[in-house]
Amino acid sequence: MLVESIIKKTLGVKSHRISRVDIEEGSLVAFIVSRKGSRPTCSVCGRKAPCYDTLSERSWRHVPCWGIPVFFRYSPRRCSCARCGVKVEAMPWSLGKSRLSLPFIVVLSSFARILSWEEVARLFGVHWNTVRASVLHSVEYGLTHRDLSGVLLIGVDEISRRKGHTYITNVYDLESKRLIWTGEGRDCATLERFFDDYGEEPTARIKGICCDMWAPYFDAIEKKAPEALVVFDKFHIVRHLIDAVDKVRKMEAIEKKKDNPELLDGTKYIWLKNPWNLTPKQRERLGQLEKLNLKINRAYLLKESFRHFWDYLYPESARKFLKKWFWWATHSRLVPMRDFAWMLRNHEDDLMNFFKLRITGGVIEGLNRKAKVVSQRAYGYRTFDTFKLALYHVMGQLPMPELTHRFV
Ligand SMILES: [Zn+2]
Repeated sequence: MLVESIIKKTLGVKSHRISRVDIEEGSLVAFIVSRKGSRPTCSVCGRKAPCYDTLSERSWRHVPCWGIPVFFRYSPRRCSCARCGVKVEAMPWSLGKSRLSLPFIVVLSSFARILSWEEVARLFGVHWNTVRASVLHSVEYGLTHRDLSGVLLIGVDEISRRKGHTYITNVYDLESKRLIWTGEGRDCATLERFFDDYGEEPTARIKGICCDMWAPYFDAIEKKAPEALVVFDKFHIVRHLIDAVDKVRKMEAIEKKKDNPELLDGTKYIWLKNPWNLTPKQRERLGQLEKLNLKINRAYLLKESFRHFWDYLYPESARKFLKKWFWWATHSRLVPMRDFAWMLRNHEDDLMNFFKLRITGGVIEGLNRKAKVVSQRAYGYRTFDTFKLALYHVMGQLPMPELTHRFV
């Protein structure tokens, strides 16, 4: 009797009761019945309706009790709802057609947010596919119940998968720092798919979109979200600048191979790091190298002076600075720096949007790192669909169904 009432209490059922609990092959099997005279609740509209018929018995796997597997058995009724027609009744322990109870889905998927799915499967003595199914159910629930009304600024970026063989595009909410969409590919069509999935009304609310200047997303943004301001991600721009500086160093190291092969050895990070992060030793080396009129030093000075660009308060002053900087870079006789400067020039108007809406993709970097961790933890995420599930689950901040009892 005690076990029956514990199960009933933790499930929070009212119009059902546990008729008996048996032990079958080492598992506890609780038989659920509807209360005598109770009318079923329509699973679509939530209203009481007369009983239509009773379906054959179904089984649900529930949260194990003291390491003993627990199952429910119940024959669901169908009701004849005046609004919805003949529908299966609502069962508070059941989610859709899942063979797992709702509390078990919540427990498994809560663990799957912090552990690998394999570990969760081992911990609960279930198959990996069962963990996947529970994550699938809770992600589906979360995606339909999440609130996107506050999303105003989004960040779009790609990450590579399978050692760079495939790419996926992630769309983040920059303010709440969550993943709102993920899709295979990294081109214009990928982002168009996002806008189609996201819907016209939420898209119209988006004020700013932060992305890489080099990314092929503009056409999609222009077509689907023409009102949104495109802001180039500062962190991406700085990374491209750093790449250009590093190219200059590599080219110069090759040139110096004959007469001074060790000159630039081990100097890579001296040129790339922020000056205030240099160690005393690196600072000393930089001081010596600066006297040598090297190409890499010219590139370094250009990189350092570009820092001021972001600090301007007035767009017109920033534009003036950019003009000057462009002249220096294009007259530096350093091809990578010149290419970078031209890239800025070609996107100048969009580049200036930074001064209208000061958003940066610092958040994107952090979230991308998190996505990489999810990818590494995922021994089993071989297919994109499964990886996508894991990403939404860990990074989507999705709401979970509420339970009347906390199981863990
Ligand atoms: Zn109904």
